[in-house]
Amino acid sequence: TTAQVAQAPEDPLFGLMRAYRQDSSDKKVDLGIGAYRDDNAKPWILPVVQKADAILHNDPNLDHEYLPISGLANFTAAAQKLILGADSPAIQENRATSLQTISGTGAVHLGALFLAKFHPRRPTVYLSNPTWANHNQIFTNVGLAIDKYPYFSAQTKGLDIDGMLSALHAAPAGSIIVLHACAHNPTGVDPTQDQWKQIASVIRERGHFPFFDCAYQGFASGDLARDAWAIRYFVQQGFETCVAQSFAKNFGLYGERAGAFHFVSAAGPDAATANRNIASQLAILQRSEISNPPAYGSRIASIVLNDPALYAQWEQDLKTMSGRIIEMRRGLQQRLEAKGTPGSWNHITSQIGMFSFTGLNEQQVQTLREKWHIYMTKNGRISMAGLNTHNIDYFAEALDQTVRE
Ligand code: PMP
Repeated sequence: TTAQVAQAPEDPLFGLMRAYRQDSSDKKVDLGIGAYRDDNAKPWILPVVQKADAILHNDPNLDHEYLPISGLANFTAAAQKLILGADSPAIQENRATSLQTISGTGAVHLGALFLAKFHPRRPTVYLSNPTWANHNQIFTNVGLAIDKYPYFSAQTKGLDIDGMLSALHAAPAGSIIVLHACAHNPTGVDPTQDQWKQIASVIRERGHFPFFDCAYQGFASGDLARDAWAIRYFVQQGFETCVAQSFAKNFGLYGERAGAFHFVSAAGPDAATANRNIASQLAILQRSEISNPPAYGSRIASIVLNDPALYAQWEQDLKTMSGRIIEMRRGLQQRLEAKGTPGSWNHITSQIGMFSFTGLNEQQVQTLREKWHIYMTKNGRISMAGLNTHNIDYFAEALDQTVRE
């Protein structure tokens, strides 16, 4: 009976947030959760989102009716163009279908569920080692087997491209390979364009299915097209693929749960028909999962994405966020190098996006928390947005002393 259900452990990341909130020190620093903070450690509502919100509230026709099952059409069409590129061959050839989802998590889940149900062989899903912890649970929960491929090199604090390529080569033909499109979480390490081509070539050779997770488009480099490069390259190569797209970070719409799932059928004469069939099955899955996606976040994103002036302002807002993070990366590296902190620290600026994988061990992470009131995940990942001009000196000093202990 249900009386035998054991207590599950608390989600480590949300447990960390709770511990931070309960810490009464005025020195405390939150480097845990991946949400953007301004220079005063406060959440930042993008100015363009404020504008879109005002437009929405002045709309006399606005109501609270259900959205269609596949979501707001103006939103999904714009989201598709944003990620695949307006001139994408997949859009021109009618072989891309898109549904609005419960942010990026819901998109990964819908893709996982679709593959678990409709892939004829239910192949193993290969995840990068390490990866966003939720990937493990999402794919396992739909009944797919998971395995890992090497990704991060502890020595170079960069990509282990040889390990990755040989694991993809050794994986059973037709496996599902989950790839972070940009700003890899948790490492901040991305393949170069040349390395992406090598990855695509192994995936092609082994007949694998590339599954892209894109949670940081525009947030990583400040350049929307550049952050979507890998996805667009695979699509141009004619791959069958899918993309989970989140608008949590790049619009600051975390709690509004705005996202999309895109399925791109392989190029070929039957692609459009195959894609229409897939769209019809995805709609049935969506109906049983959530019936219809939430309206507010997708309305905001849709207003911005479909208006050239607002879109331009959004690009500025993205540069504000990514620019401040890049400044914090430079500032931290400079401070550690000036102090002569043991170790090399150039990975802080070569890594990209929301996070830096510092290389701190579990013991050091614990010291930083207990002695210095600095909170980060056990694997030594820090959210760069948690640093600002008021706490960066304190953090650099704490890190320096902890490493020397
Ligand atoms: N994938 C990755 C790799 C992520 O880092 C995140 C955000 N933490 C997500 C997906 C999805 O987040 P959300 O559901 O908030 O869009």
